[in-house]
Amino acid sequence: MTPPGADTVLVRYGDIGVKSTKVQRDMERALETNLRAMLDSRGVSGELDWQWSRPRIRTGRVDAATDAACDTFGIVSASPAISTEPTMAAIREVLADVAGAIGVEGPFAVSARRAGEREAHPFTSTDIEREGGQAIWDSLDEPAVDLDDPSQVFYVECRQREAFVFTEKRAGPGGLPLGTQRPLVALLSGGIDSPVAAWEVMKRGAPVVPLYFDFEAYGGADHVARAVESARTLERYAPNHGFDLRIAPAGAAADRLMSGVEDTRMLSLRRFMLRVAERVAEAERAVGIVTGEAIGQKSSQTGANLAVTDSVTRLPVHRPLLTWDKQEIIARARGIGTYEDSAIETGCNRIAPDYPETNASIEEVEESEPDLEALVSEAVAGTERVEL
Ligand code: ATP
Ligand code: MG
Repeated sequence: MTPPGADTVLVRYGDIGVKSTKVQRDMERALETNLRAMLDSRGVSGELDWQWSRPRIRTGRVDAATDAACDTFGIVSASPAISTEPTMAAIREVLADVAGAIGVEGPFAVSARRAGEREAHPFTSTDIEREGGQAIWDSLDEPAVDLDDPSQVFYVECRQREAFVFTEKRAGPGGLPLGTQRPLVALLSGGIDSPVAAWEVMKRGAPVVPLYFDFEAYGGADHVARAVESARTLERYAPNHGFDLRIAPAGAAADRLMSGVEDTRMLSLRRFMLRVAERVAEAERAVGIVTGEAIGQKSSQTGANLAVTDSVTRLPVHRPLLTWDKQEIIARARGIGTYEDSAIETGCNRIAPDYPETNASIEEVEESEPDLEALVSEAVAGTERVEL
């Protein structure tokens, strides 16, 4: 909950702290740039202060700023806070006001941290907890304290020149700042899985080049619309990184495989996609391919079949959802906002054979696979870039 009168957002980041000094500085700079871009893209004005690896945002729109921070990769949590004087009297007063305003039900606790030199304040963090707790106690009609299992925690962060009071740590995505890794080509189908997979690698700092295959007669306009919508949603997490959707024409390849290949058709189709993706990656200086596949989710995703599809490209194929259950994927898709996009109705999959191979070998697939080179080149040449 945002305490009434909050004027500041306290921002925390994680993984960056374990890097060497130089890497850490670069990562912090990237995070700062990304956070500014995120605030701008949401129309949130404010002042971003970067002090002692504890960034804070001064703004009139603390809620929107907190949300923006919590959508920025690299940020672990953010708190809308009230700033006040770093004195015991001021802290006690703010705590009592906040407790009265938010209506505390059940036991509470105060958790305080003091930063800065020892002599900066004539009290310790334990003093803040004790005296602050007393101030809250006095302000409530039916106070109760439970330090082990409180239903409401009041946080105090006392720094050299200023103190902050807040009541929640809203979770951010964590991970690393976007752009601190080389890009990856993400195969984006508009289904539930692939946008989640793309988001997961973005979370680790890799910008993605989204690539959609348009199977034309087998997919249809609604299918494309679904991919565009999920790309739009993902772009919200990358306001200062290019996110144009690449659409590769793949109707001809699908036709060719429909007429010539039976049991291993889907595997050859996937191998076709990876070959096109590899060429797109070369053009974009991307260093890998991302898919939303998970072991055993579909016949084309058995362990054996994944080995067969991978063998067609020299690039690593990253599958962040490899071990995820569908329910976990759906939960994440809801959390990041792509689930609704994939729920748009589409024409069904008309390419899959009746009896798909589940345990293919590379030899078997290569034997029944027509020469796709010309179709791959054609798809690469015909790939369009759509601004979202
Ligand atoms: P999703 O996995 O996105 O929910 P899906 O499960 O229907 O869709 P599959 O047919 O299982 O997709 O394909 C597995 C992966 O291959 C997808 O996660 C995606 O990365 C990629 N893929 C499938 N179809 C396309 C397409 N038309 N364009 C781009 N990538 C695709
Ligand atoms: Mg899938």
